[in-house]
This record gives sequence, structure tokens and C-alpha cells, in this order.
Amino acid sequence: MNFQALPWQTNWLAASHELTQAHHHAWIVSGRDGDGLSAAGAALAALLLCESPVNSVACGQCGSCKWLAGDAHPDFMRLAPQESDDEVSRLPIIKIDAAREAVEFMQLSASTRRGRVLLVDSANALSRDSANALLKALEEPPADTRWLLVSAHPARLLATIRSRALKLRLSRPAQSEALAWLVEQGMDRPAAALALAATRGSPLAALAVIQSGGIAATADFLKDLSSPKTLPTLSWGSWVDSGGKTDRRARFGLLLSLLVDWTADWARVRSGLAPLRFDSHRDALAKLAQALPLASALGYHRSLLRQLGVPDTTLSARLQIEGILLDYRTWFSR
Ligand SMILES: [Zn+2]
Repeated sequence: MNFQALPWQTNWLAASHELTQAHHHAWIVSGRDGDGLSAAGAALAALLLCESPVNSVACGQCGSCKWLAGDAHPDFMRLAPQESDDEVSRLPIIKIDAAREAVEFMQLSASTRRGRVLLVDSANALSRDSANALLKALEEPPADTRWLLVSAHPARLLATIRSRALKLRLSRPAQSEALAWLVEQGMDRPAAALALAATRGSPLAALAVIQSGGIAATADFLKDLSSPKTLPTLSWGSWVDSGGKTDRRARFGLLLSLLVDWTADWARVRSGLAPLRFDSHRDALAKLAQALPLASALGYHRSLLRQLGVPDTTLSARLQIEGILLDYRTWFSR
């Protein structure tokens, strides 16, 4: 497991380290997955355990850092869902047995004076029973323990857990930092800029979009959106579905985000304004604009926005995108 912070997380890490060291036990580390939320949580855990941090970064040399690197730290546990490639039904969850084990682990006395650290990644994967087990422990947390709950959707955590934890919100990378990082990863600059636009500036999500073949697919997708009557919903469904799990998430996120911006531009053109993102498709948007009353299309746009903010965890990415595109075809073919 990697405990390194990403370049844009340095200041956040230093400030968070000071706060978490100071007093409270439980912290919700929130932010966007695509900004490297997991990496930030892990880096903070390493920093809390490190015996001699250098400029608010874990030193990588001390006993604690070496234990972490060897996946053998006696005072550290990571509680995460069992990943499986089966995404047909729900996303993976943290089961009650694992949660109980983590709670018991936190009751033991620490091997070093830095205390014990539990990293829950992601807290949104806790089942209701698991969340309750954790909650009970958080009512009277043992001394010298730090509970880091990583969450991309803190509003969806149990209110009782939220009330027992303080919040650390991960800051976002500047566009220039995100672009520089992607180029450093060997990505082509124009492709990196396109992918960042498609992921609202989230570098890790942008990297996944490029690696999943998303940039090449974007032009085809926009062409298909221009002709709703013949939009091949099933073939986009199977494009999302092919490839590994990371590709699936990246492809689904990309199509959804393109569709959100596309319908926003549609509404702008419909109201006599210039498109914001797809100026190159102004004519196609204008043609579509005649087809449909503004109110119905805005309703569709809003439903997309909701899905962008709070992903549906009950349906597979394929079924979701097929449903979304079927609605688009129905609405925009009128
Ligand atoms: Zn260290």
C-alpha cells in the first residue's frame, strides 16, 4: 500500500496533521475521489504514526514508516471493503465482522507512543451494522487513538457518526498543478486538458479517463448525441461495461459528465446564448434546440446532475448509462 501524498496535498497535509495531533479522536477526511482522497487519508495516517516527520511529511526512514511500507505496522489498520470484480448488484461493502475486528484492534494498547490509527476507506462503504459498531466505539474512544474516516460523500454517513467526528476537507488542485501532474505521468498535454475538463479538474479521474480510451470515444459520443433518434444506447452500454472495473467507472463518469455539459449547452443555445463547452457543436445544438420545450429538457439535465453528485450504487454502470441514454433518446427525438 502507498502512503505518499500527491503534490497538491502538501499544505492540506501539514494543516491536517496539526489538527489531528492536537486533540480530537475521530476525523472525516472528505473530498473528491478523483483528487486523490484515498492517498490523502493514507498519507495522513502515515504522518500521524511517523516518529520523525520532515516538513509535515512522513520520513520514510523510521521504524514506523518501515513497518507501514512492509504492511506490518502493529498500531495501524486499514478497514476497506473486500474488492471484487462483480459489480452486477451493489458496490462492495465493509462487513460487520471486519468492522468488529477493527474496533477490537483499537481497544488494544499501542506499541509505540504515537498511538493507534484506524483508516476507514471508504466510510461510505460501511454497512449499517458496521457503522453502528464503529459508532459505539466512538462514543468512548480509547486514549491515544485516531480514527480517520475517508468519505467522498460525508452527507450520506450516519448523522450520529458525523456528530462525533470533526471534518477535514481535502483542498482541490489548481488547474495548472493538475495538468502538470498528468504530463508528469506521461500523458499528452491536449488529451490531459480535455480529460480534466471532463472530470471537473480531478487529476486521478482524468488519468483514468485517458487510460480507459475515453478521449478517443468523446468525439463519437458527441456525434451520437447530435442525432438522438439513432443514438445506439446499447453499444454505449457495452462500451462502458467492457474493460476492468476502473475503466468502467471512468467511462461511466465520462459519459455522464459529457451529457451534463451537453444538456447545459443545449439550454444555453435554446435561450439564445453561446455554448459554454461545445462551441464546435453549435449547429447541432441549435438544431436540437428546436425540438423540445425548455422545461422538460431542464428536468432531464437536473436528474443527470443529481446522479453526478450522488452515484447510484444499486445498478451496474451499464444499466445506468443505458437508462440515461434511453431517456435522452426519448426526450430529444420529439
Ligand atoms: Zn517516519
